[in-house]
Amino acid sequence: MVDLIASPGDPIWRQYVPTVQELEVHDGLVDSLDEDANSPVPNITHRYPDRALFLVSPVCAAYCRFCTRRRKVGDPEKIPMAQLESAFRYLEEHHEIRDVIMSGGDPLLLSDRRIDDICKRLRAIPHLEVLRIGSRVPCHLPERVTPELCAILKQYHPLYINTHFNHPDELTPAAVRALGMLADAGIPLGCQTVLLKGVNDDPEVMKLLMQRLLTARVRPYYIYMCDQVAGAEHFRTTVEKGLEIIKALRGWTSGLAVPHFVIDAPGGGGKIPLLPEYVVKLTDTEIVLRNYAGKTYRYSQPVEPILVG
Ligand SMILES: *Cc1c(COP(=O)(O)O)cnc(C)c1O
Repeated sequence: MVDLIASPGDPIWRQYVPTVQELEVHDGLVDSLDEDANSPVPNITHRYPDRALFLVSPVCAAYCRFCTRRRKVGDPEKIPMAQLESAFRYLEEHHEIRDVIMSGGDPLLLSDRRIDDICKRLRAIPHLEVLRIGSRVPCHLPERVTPELCAILKQYHPLYINTHFNHPDELTPAAVRALGMLADAGIPLGCQTVLLKGVNDDPEVMKLLMQRLLTARVRPYYIYMCDQVAGAEHFRTTVEKGLEIIKALRGWTSGLAVPHFVIDAPGGGGKIPLLPEYVVKLTDTEIVLRNYAGKTYRYSQPVEPILVG
């Protein structure tokens, strides 16, 4: 990790260095998102009507201790292209899918050539309007973002990248440089952050993270409650903490810096958004609202037209 120096107990250290607390397994949930249940063919998770998750790479270099796929990564072999064939065929046959999210592992840890082959194959499917990549490379391996990689990716627009930063200290000069290169290649950048105890469960830390992301040309996309991963209980915080953080962002800093706060519901329920309560009262005639600073305002419902005749 270039520029990133972790010391025992600091927010970077906590994300990657195993602790004995991991051995405390409370509920045995590993595949808590039930991705396997929504998997019609190997490497595809098709949970939502018009988009699918495509696991293209089992390899991830981050080894985040809170990751659902923590126990699945580690296989250093890349998936043979032939083994992805049933996935490509599924995407070809399912015309309702218009958005494919390449995930893993980390897709950007594949070779340039493999990334090019996969994107080319996906782009040959006419109904796939949008390609996405989920990658933690800009954070933990920014040197992987080379001019060659950017030149490949920019051939496949519209292509979006959602990256993953959890703490403002992760926006090192090298990471910011890598994000700038991707943005210069015309790739809209988003960020998916996980709410983690002892790392970012603090409104001020989270606000600084969101502001630094925006400055690095990344639009914050989601804050997730930590998944119920076996052995990651010590990272979990309460839902109220997440709501408190969103409340401390909305209105207090750029709206562009405010992501959606979601729980990826166990059992394959998908992402469910949560909002602090801004509605005081809603009737046929008006809504009573509380603004970010706690003041109350009223907005009238439209008046029903009087029907003549
Ligand atoms: C998150 C996710 C998606 C994408 O969801 P968006 O809300 O469109 O970003 C698609 N499939 C699965 C299985 C997911 O977990």
